[in-house]
Amino acid sequence: MARRTKIIATIGPASESETVLREMIRSGMDVARLGLAHGSIEDAIGRLKMIRSIAKEESRTVGILVDLPGPKIRLASFGDSPVLLAEDSEIKVQIGNSSSNGQVIQVDYENLFNDVELGDRLIVGDGRGVIQIEERHDTHLDARVIHGGVMSGRPGLYIPASRLSISAPTEWDLQALERFLEMDVDMVALSFVRSASDLAKLSLDPHPSGPLVVAKIETRDAVEDLTGIIEASGAVMVARGDLGNEWPIQELPILQKEIIRRCIALGRPAITATQMLESMIIAPDPTRAEVSDVANAVWDGTSALMLSGETAVGADPVNALEAMSRIAERADDVFDHRSWGEELSEMRLTDADDPNTSVTDAMTQATYRAVTELGVETILCISGTGFTVRSMARFRPTARIIGLTSNSRTVGQLSLSWGTESIHLQEGGDVESRINAALHLVRDGAGLKAGELVAVLAGTNANARATNVLRIEQIPHA
Ligand code: PEP
Repeated sequence: MARRTKIIATIGPASESETVLREMIRSGMDVARLGLAHGSIEDAIGRLKMIRSIAKEESRTVGILVDLPGPKIRLASFGDSPVLLAEDSEIKVQIGNSSSNGQVIQVDYENLFNDVELGDRLIVGDGRGVIQIEERHDTHLDARVIHGGVMSGRPGLYIPASRLSISAPTEWDLQALERFLEMDVDMVALSFVRSASDLAKLSLDPHPSGPLVVAKIETRDAVEDLTGIIEASGAVMVARGDLGNEWPIQELPILQKEIIRRCIALGRPAITATQMLESMIIAPDPTRAEVSDVANAVWDGTSALMLSGETAVGADPVNALEAMSRIAERADDVFDHRSWGEELSEMRLTDADDPNTSVTDAMTQATYRAVTELGVETILCISGTGFTVRSMARFRPTARIIGLTSNSRTVGQLSLSWGTESIHLQEGGDVESRINAALHLVRDGAGLKAGELVAVLAGTNANARATNVLRIEQIPHA
């Protein structure tokens, strides 16, 4: 069976050329993440345009996710080749953004000297190194490398979120967001969210007219307000890099499972991110532990897997993407769909006070039961906002899920949803004509055979969120 779990690849200096991007799109990149750590906003917009134009040439849907860094503190670039921060060496820490090396690191955060204290141990690059602040001067801090490590690109510098004097979204995030809204970006991730109200500060129109908002769960406060944040977001990222700084590292697998479970129960796609194939930044093959990590994230129920440095600054982004795709596809093959569907029937959390939500919830549950019972191999979800499609994908059916929507923004936003192929459906009109158009479209464009049985989910009102029609139909003859 084809891969069902989606793959997000971060675009950076190693992957921004047309040749590499085209190869990545051909190798199955579902979503391109534009990190803003490398280069300017205008550079990122150039990448966005190039990805869109190649995806069009290749007739592929590739969603674009822009990742607003929030109060993410990063070191100035170490360049593309690995640089050693040697254990027990003394280094200077300056405020700046031009370059870092093994003796002097620059930090892109103006309040650094106020927010850190002598004796602080600061984690560099999601645990690749640790430095301890020893002395404060007017122009720099002296620090000692407590745990050495190899750095490349622009690693993060971890200062506990509760100590930072700025919060998400920053002024810079909001300015960057304006530019990406002009480009109709599909999805926007916000880093260092601490409560649902941080997401509201983005002041976005609800998706699909606004971008789908991805809340990155990486602070202690976010874990404590998890349900509120999930409900206020369109999708969630388990941002294990910073989450592993804020929580004892042994809590990470438990948090990952719990966050994914809660997202799926609430019908939000969940992304598992960071260090998934980290060794492939330099090596041609992943470690055995990484292979297991990727497969286990699939079995935890993640909707999408994310590559970070592996594709942004790694030696061979296409190779990393292909490796992840192979591991995910194999894990998908042995996914226990039946147990998942049964368990989800118990754990799904619907807002019983919202009739639209609870009707769609019950209809997708009925569809899951019907296709399982009948052995139907394809579900067509005719949807305006993508809500029905995401609701259906929660059940992780073995059947193909095809989302058909007349909203082209929904097509891009569904690129993140597990197991979902999204197709633009021209036809508006009443439910009868939309179903008819969908059946013809999938016969001609999605390889379905005349006479084949499919389940069709739709709503009598094309614009309302409530799906109230389930039909078992045959694909018509030409
Ligand atoms: C993370 O911390 O895991 C993460 C995804 O954020 P970033 O890549 O911006 O560090």
